[in-house]
Amino acid sequence: MTKYVYMFSEGNKDQKDLLGGKGANLAEMTNIGLPVPPGFIITTDACRYYMKNDDVPAQLAEQVTESVQKVEQQMGRTFGDPKNPLLVSVRSGAKFSMPGMMETVLNIGLNDETLAGIIEMSGGNERFAWDSYRRLLQMFGKTVLEIDGDKFADALDAKKAARGIVNDPDLTAKDLSELVDEFKAIIKEETGEDFPQDARTQLDMAVVAVFNSWNTERAIIYRKRERIADDLGTAVNVQTMVYGNLGEKSGTGVCFTRDPATGQRGVYGDYLENAQGEDVVAGIRNTLPLAALEELDKKSYDELLANLQRLENHYRDMCDIEFTVENGKLYMLQTRIGKRTAAAAFRIAVHMLDDGLISEDEALERVTGAQLTSLMFPQFDADADRELLAKGMAASPGAAVGEIVFDSEQAVERKGAGAKVILVRRETTPDDLAGMIAAAGILTSRGGKTSHAAVVARGMGTTAVVGAEALLINAEANTVTVKGKVLRKGDVISIDGGTGEVFAGDVPVAPSNVTRYFEEGLDAALEAVSDEGERELVTAVHRFMTHADEVRRMGVRANADTPEDARRALAFGAEGIGLTRTEHMFLGDRREMVEHVILADSQEERDAAFNQLTPLQRGDFAGILEAMDGQPVTIRLIDPPLHEFLPDLTSLAVKRAINEDHGISAPEIDTLYTAVNRMHEANPMLGLRGVRLGLKMPGLFDLQVRAIAEACVERIQAGGDPQPEIMVPLVGDVKELTIVRERAQATIDKVAEESGVELSIPIGAMMELPRAAVTSAVLAEESDFFSFGTNDLTQTVWGFSRDDVEGAFFTEYMDAGIFEVSPFESIDVQGVGELVRQGVNGSRSTKPDMKLGVCGEHGGDPDSIHFFEEVGLDYVSCSPFRVPIARLEAARAMIEAGMDASA
Ligand code: PEP
Ligand code: MG
Repeated sequence: MTKYVYMFSEGNKDQKDLLGGKGANLAEMTNIGLPVPPGFIITTDACRYYMKNDDVPAQLAEQVTESVQKVEQQMGRTFGDPKNPLLVSVRSGAKFSMPGMMETVLNIGLNDETLAGIIEMSGGNERFAWDSYRRLLQMFGKTVLEIDGDKFADALDAKKAARGIVNDPDLTAKDLSELVDEFKAIIKEETGEDFPQDARTQLDMAVVAVFNSWNTERAIIYRKRERIADDLGTAVNVQTMVYGNLGEKSGTGVCFTRDPATGQRGVYGDYLENAQGEDVVAGIRNTLPLAALEELDKKSYDELLANLQRLENHYRDMCDIEFTVENGKLYMLQTRIGKRTAAAAFRIAVHMLDDGLISEDEALERVTGAQLTSLMFPQFDADADRELLAKGMAASPGAAVGEIVFDSEQAVERKGAGAKVILVRRETTPDDLAGMIAAAGILTSRGGKTSHAAVVARGMGTTAVVGAEALLINAEANTVTVKGKVLRKGDVISIDGGTGEVFAGDVPVAPSNVTRYFEEGLDAALEAVSDEGERELVTAVHRFMTHADEVRRMGVRANADTPEDARRALAFGAEGIGLTRTEHMFLGDRREMVEHVILADSQEERDAAFNQLTPLQRGDFAGILEAMDGQPVTIRLIDPPLHEFLPDLTSLAVKRAINEDHGISAPEIDTLYTAVNRMHEANPMLGLRGVRLGLKMPGLFDLQVRAIAEACVERIQAGGDPQPEIMVPLVGDVKELTIVRERAQATIDKVAEESGVELSIPIGAMMELPRAAVTSAVLAEESDFFSFGTNDLTQTVWGFSRDDVEGAFFTEYMDAGIFEVSPFESIDVQGVGELVRQGVNGSRSTKPDMKLGVCGEHGGDPDSIHFFEEVGLDYVSCSPFRVPIARLEAARAMIEAGMDASA
């Protein structure tokens, strides 16, 4: 019989697939002896069953009954018992945290009869009992019965207005008991049924509501954004209620074992006296810093600190925690590995490494290429003139500049029109998600570092400042007033998520010190840092990059077409160039010469154009080989579709038509038109390009090979150590390669003979057509190396035109779940990846030591890099700016696979 229900004591933290993240960690906390209110978990298996069959599994009811009985025994209370009732919370808990996206119902088990027992349990606190009942009706009505939540909120507001009060806590027991009646009436009116009084019915309905909440619109948007699979389902946690709203000796809080924004040591969190858990995260009431608890209730505070330390040592990572104090007794309600900013991730990892909690390899696992990327973003220039408007809490770092928008709709609309926007709100709720995704920055006037805005922004890597209380936001009027100044929708502001500062206008941004570290070295970056935190960060990056270089097996090269690019790539740690696209050297003022080559009528004319181009190309190559002296430089022979070099056919046709209309004779236009028309291709991306062009106009490749060989001679004569590799693009058949290779070798030999300098230049091919990958064993006989061109390989495997499709229908494809990310961005492992694998295996079956790399865009994408490590490529090549990311991820891929480069 399938086990669908686990007591907390039966699970552990490694069972996130089955028990969800929250459940697995509740189980772990229970098992290490922390004070967790007893409960049980309904598995994700049960949710998946429900989604498939539209009904819960038949065995579930009985297993829930048994588990409820166990909790009753532990608590000495009984579900539905009027005298001594057990009340539970029902919460979602998926494998990956989806903050605020799914549903929660509290106080299940409360009804007209058990109310008396709750009054007694709370020491005669009638107000508390009625408030709990009102909350249950409200949450149950909205979540389980799907009644518009405003109906309840409006009734609550009307009651307060009638009583002339502003805050909920001022409502009396009588007010609340009246509200309970009103809420019951709303339920009856909206559903035609009474609120279910039976505790077990409440529980069963709440469980199904949590299952259903997996597929709400906002949960679906969130998963897409976070690349969480839609079919995982959620677990359901059923847990004994404890109350932070029983009076002054009660309260609730959220905290981190370290500061999640900066990574500094020391607990960090918010506390709300006399409140329930949801109140903190919702950011509705302003919280106290955690330290305030020490004064309010030292015993609970000390116990909490000890528990935090214990958790951090147990998980060996920064944890985030929710806790409640009920009448002076501390309960731990949740823990998980805490989300953190990129800078915090680096600092925490290095601190834990220094404290001996984790190894160097583990430290590398704790930081990602994506985090490193965000640290390389520019920051506000501290020396610039700037007008400080307000200061809030630094919730998620970065420097964001944009127009003010006041709601999600405005954000989406302005972003769609190409504007950068800062979403300014009192506080955010899960309903604001679309606007938060569209925004360059998020600014709120309420809430703490653990508010919805802060947590979600950090998760998305979006800059955010929260709790900037000086801002008076009037969302209806689309204005925000601060320091007597009225800002309107569309006005530009700048927010600093690292300091919490909000500035008027467009503040200039300065480069990051992490980037400075890569460009100018450790000493220069340390000299430029402005505080100790920055110093720690730069040092951490340096240490991790050094270790990454020791660990990784794959080499990292850069795609670079100019000596400047080559130098930048070297500074960023590239170990050579994996792709120089030579066609870029034919653009600009040289384009006309290339046009002559292509359109020449006679061989003499063509040779003349070649002779003009050769010395220019030699200079290009000599420059790059000098910049990359001693390192391999893969130079790809000319590749692009012809039309990129020719005048536009349509404009020529228009010119001719105009001439005709005006009776003007322009024979050169006619000739050009005829020539261009002859060469015209309906589908140039799949036409005369790459090796095909080289075979049709052999002089073109000859000139490039000669220029490479001569540049090599020039460098050797100057005392350098040039290491060029010649790469032939778009090869599909071995015979193409044989012909090109023989000719190229003859040219190299000729240059060697002419100069008296010995030359040995490897000649290889790009593997960017399915046919090349499939026939790689044969192709390998004629090739000294291969480099996977995964851009063209993706294009040809899918039959997607690189130039056209992304804007045309990829969004729809992603919406439909056909892919989660563009296959041009991250490798399609099943399809394109399979051909890469075939290509690797085929070529190594012919030449076991064949050098294999990748130079498509995927060479700088973290997920793809992990795949390339797995299939055994020798190196990845990517744009210079992504080289550090590739170094880090290549090392992380090794560690993930449990490999050790030194072994
Ligand atoms: C490729 O196709 O992956 C490649 C690197 O070449 P290009 O992008 O220049 O076609
Ligand atoms: Mg290509």
